[in-house]
Amino acid sequence: MTDNCNIIRDLMPLVIDEAASEDSAQCVNSHVDHCDECRIYYDGMKHMHSSRKAQEEEARTFALAAQKMKKKRRARILRNIVIGMLIGCVLAYGGLLGWSHLTMDYTQLIYYGEYGVTLSELKDGWVSVNIDYYGSSLVCGVDFEKVQEDGRNILYIYLERPFIKQYTMNPHNNYSCTRLPPERMENLYEIRQGKGDEYLVVWQQGMDIPDASAEMEQYFALNDEYWDLWNSQDSTLDGKLMIRSQEEYEQIELLRDQLRQITVPEWQ
Ligand SMILES: [Zn+2]
Repeated sequence: MTDNCNIIRDLMPLVIDEAASEDSAQCVNSHVDHCDECRIYYDGMKHMHSSRKAQEEEARTFALAAQKMKKKRRARILRNIVIGMLIGCVLAYGGLLGWSHLTMDYTQLIYYGEYGVTLSELKDGWVSVNIDYYGSSLVCGVDFEKVQEDGRNILYIYLERPFIKQYTMNPHNNYSCTRLPPERMENLYEIRQGKGDEYLVVWQQGMDIPDASAEMEQYFALNDEYWDLWNSQDSTLDGKLMIRSQEEYEQIELLRDQLRQITVPEWQ
């Protein structure tokens, strides 16, 4: 170990870090070629350096990998949230559709014995089709179906309800679901209460139809007057909205009140 050895050893880290000049590197290399002590020292330093480098590299790789994994995990969590929300939306929408279908669409035929259909002939030849709910408060709707059997026109009149039974607070009022014009009655062979194979014959061509009561005649006369007034005053001929006069409003209100007060025996 000489003074020169100390200078050489001071240079070694710079050479290993490739920060020394070419002259210094040559000086160090030629010295360790003949100085065993310095060569051992130099080798040890190089080994330490390379293992430190490797450690640093490893740490950096690990940090990178961890960062990537973190990003991936975040992306996965986000993706799962989005998928979850989508599934939730689809389920909620489907559920809503399903629920409204089950509770609002009239898909279930009501047995024909649970209601009644009667006819009343008005003076003008029209026939009122009366529905008797038998005091039921079941939510339901009236429907019609015209079919041909052996060239004869059959009119089915039936009640339907949503899949899930629902009830109103008050029992239904019996009423006329429609009026059939005389020419339509002439074309009909039979009117049935029910649908498909389950029905009762309400009327058949040639059978008498009871005359409507005076109250029913009065009801329909007022009803027509009411709707004529309501529809005609709505707009002018060129489609512009018209403001009703106070008198017209009062007339409409009066007709509505009168309609409410008529008790039609066929609908009791
Ligand atoms: Zn030396």
